[in-house]
Amino acid sequence: MDFSFSPKVEELRANLLEFMESHVYPSERIYRDQSRAAGDPQFHPPVMEELKAEARSRGLWNLFMPDERYGAGLSNHEYAPLAEITGRSFLGPEALNCAAPDTGNMEILAEYGTPAQQKQWLQPLLDGEIRSCFAMTEPAVASSDATNIESSIARDGEHYVINGRKWFTSGAASPRCKIMIFMGVTNAGADAYHRQSMVLIPLDTPGVDVMRALPIFGFQHEGGHCEIDFKDVRVPIDNILGEEGSGFTIAQARLGPGRIHHCMRAIGMAERAYEAMCRRVLSRTAFGKELARQGVIQDWIAQARIQIEQARLLTLKAAWLMDTVGKEAARIEISAIKVVAPNVALWVIDHAIQAFGAAGVTEDFGLAEMYAAARTLRIADGPDEVHKMVIARRELARFIPKG
Ligand SMILES: Cc1cc2nc3c(=O)[nH]c(=O)nc-3n(C[C@H](O)[C@H](O)[C@H](O)COP(=O)(O)OP(=O)(O)OC[C@H]3O[C@@H](n4cnc5c(N)ncnc54)[C@H](O)[C@@H]3O)c2cc1C
Repeated sequence: MDFSFSPKVEELRANLLEFMESHVYPSERIYRDQSRAAGDPQFHPPVMEELKAEARSRGLWNLFMPDERYGAGLSNHEYAPLAEITGRSFLGPEALNCAAPDTGNMEILAEYGTPAQQKQWLQPLLDGEIRSCFAMTEPAVASSDATNIESSIARDGEHYVINGRKWFTSGAASPRCKIMIFMGVTNAGADAYHRQSMVLIPLDTPGVDVMRALPIFGFQHEGGHCEIDFKDVRVPIDNILGEEGSGFTIAQARLGPGRIHHCMRAIGMAERAYEAMCRRVLSRTAFGKELARQGVIQDWIAQARIQIEQARLLTLKAAWLMDTVGKEAARIEISAIKVVAPNVALWVIDHAIQAFGAAGVTEDFGLAEMYAAARTLRIADGPDEVHKMVIARRELARFIPKG
């Protein structure tokens, strides 16, 4: 087996690593200071626009886009080590225009959007001029099962009329968020997989009420995770994405098998926490010796290194299988890494926090926010249990007698 990357990826990696060192890490404190000084969680710190301009000038832009017409044209296996590096900082993904939920939205606009929809919404997203959100999850139903979604999209002449309540629509509270992809029921009489559609709703459409931006473990992110009420919201029928009844299929394309960007980034997060832990334990002495010389701490370091390496290799294998045999054939590996990566990141960050002592739970070292981010990944990218269900069903199918 050859684990090396192509010359193209090596070049991008070197460029990206240098960009992270010279620009991204030094901007973390500046971003937080600018945000705090504004006193408004929806304020967009100007340092982010400086980072975006620098990344774009270096060719580090839209790396996630596999289609060369829109982005870097990298395979999953090529993108994985780059996404890992961006995950090392909370600023990395947006600086490179590779942040969720825009990435998934850009992908489905590229795949299902009409030329007019692409011109109006995809292009400014690709240029990093606006942001977008994705509204599927509803407070009233168990939304890990997308067939449960209840909001309605009713045809009325040349318009659709939308009613319902969503929550956890990430990013919607930002003034830069201009377009939403909304999932709801258009064909109530159809089977569970063909009842729903997706429509594009500009955020300033009358009847869209962004009620609140939910904090995550007390952290208020720019754009928030919003609860939104939809009351008789009217959009032209041209705003449908794909065909009526294709909502579930598009949701699978967007969220389901094949999107392992979160996993790639989680490995980067784990690696950064690991490095912080190693430096910290070498710099502090307790009970007569460096923390790094305590057996228990050496055990954490070894365990962390083993787990990160395992997770990275499984991520790369899943990405490589997606490129070579396709998402369907890679389904077990994809579901497996969606469980493994956030849990490994969580374990490593938790032990880094412990190694830092009280400092670990403050915001001074970024570990507490990292912990919150990794913990939400065990739900946000589909709960662990749903990925395990997919694996178990496939595994059991191999043992069911034929005929
Ligand atoms: C930070 C964050 C950002 C998010 N951003 C967005 C967004 O931008 N847009 C959007 O639409 N949604 C978003 N979500 C919502 C996310 O997609 C849902 O929370 C997720 O799909 C789970 O749905 P639910 O919360 O309704 O949980 P439920 O469906 O109610 O499930 C609750 C729990 O039930 C258990 N469970 C479910 N199925 C099974 C099973 N088969 N076997 C065993 N146990 C099971 C799991 O433990 C699961 O956690 C975000 C969530 C978070 C935390």
